[in-house]
Amino acid sequence: MADNNRFLTDLSANELRTFMEELGAPAYRSRQILQWIYHDFVWSYDEMVNVPRGLRDRIAAIMPLHGLKMVNELTSRDGTVKSLLELADGKTIEAAFMPYDNGHCTVCVSSQVGCPIGCPFCATGQMGFERNLTPGEIVDQLLYYARRLKLTPIPNGPGFISNLVFMGMGEPLANYKNVWSAIERINAPDGFGLGARNITISTAGVVPQINQLAKETLQVGLAVSLHAPTDVLRDKLVPLNQKHPLGELLPACKEYAELSGRRITFEYIVFHGYNDTDRHARYLAKRLAGINCHVNLIAANRTEMFRSETPTGLDMMAFQKQLVDMGMNCTIRNSRGVDIGGGCGQLRSRIFPPPPLPETPVNPQTLP
Ligand code: SAH
Ligand code: SF4
Repeated sequence: MADNNRFLTDLSANELRTFMEELGAPAYRSRQILQWIYHDFVWSYDEMVNVPRGLRDRIAAIMPLHGLKMVNELTSRDGTVKSLLELADGKTIEAAFMPYDNGHCTVCVSSQVGCPIGCPFCATGQMGFERNLTPGEIVDQLLYYARRLKLTPIPNGPGFISNLVFMGMGEPLANYKNVWSAIERINAPDGFGLGARNITISTAGVVPQINQLAKETLQVGLAVSLHAPTDVLRDKLVPLNQKHPLGELLPACKEYAELSGRRITFEYIVFHGYNDTDRHARYLAKRLAGINCHVNLIAANRTEMFRSETPTGLDMMAFQKQLVDMGMNCTIRNSRGVDIGGGCGQLRSRIFPPPPLPETPVNPQTLP
């Protein structure tokens, strides 16, 4: 009987081997299947032509190959593709593909349907939380774009995916187990084979899981969505701060940088006039002093329900200059796909508008 909750991409190489053994198939069949999934990017069992049809039919009857279906897609003038993908249970998530002129190509994936953190400026946060994604649903987002790139190569563009970021819908560290299983599969030489250094997790600051990440053998990049240098302001912008305030978060970041030997990125959305005054720059420099880090400034995207002041290029440069003058590594993120709604959750919100914001703010007790 089909297992409706699992897909073949949910299985690690070891689990796939065991599964094939249970079906009485020789070990090399699992290697062939891994090759079809992670190197040939097939989307159906029918394409696995060196696997006997009888065996393919038996596998398909137990477990579908992938759990994703594309339902809507927008392409930006800059080549960014944003896709609305439907899961087997009918829920929808977003993923994005960003080709760069230097031949690099980044895929941005979701880790949850909706998000439990509820940042007021974020289209995903405005949807509320529905469920965690499985490892297979995460891996499938990357495979979807790998297949797309294979079928529709970009003339003079990148021929393969070089980077993966968890900056789509959801809080990856609130779905740690499944995100980590997906990363292991994506990194494995008999999986997608993407180096840990080319994978970045972006988090709103789930401190216990940052500590856990620091102990993993695979050293992935960590980006922390800071957005404010004081607890008073961050409590409002990132409600998780009420549970894990800066006094807890920043030491955990410092330790991550020291243990991993990797520089942390602090993402800072600039809400003009709200978090980018001289005072904010001074506080920020002071709080981040001594952490091996880099600050990435992001221009606020307006969402339907949070109409903040979008900064101009000059506003962004003025704030950057103040930080650089105080000795910080600071760059401005080159916003991608602005014409198609660059922020996470914006495409889904346009197609399925969220209900109005709750009157009561998020209860910190329910946060991860
Ligand atoms: N939950 C994780 C990862 C997903 S959000 C996190 O918060 O880090 C990925 C990035 O998109 C975060 O830095 C987030 O702050 C940013 N983002 C969300 N809404 C935005 C908006 N309206 N304008 C600009 N950036 C936004
Ligand atoms: Fe969740 Fe990140 Fe959006 Fe905040 S910014 S609501 S943590 S997805």
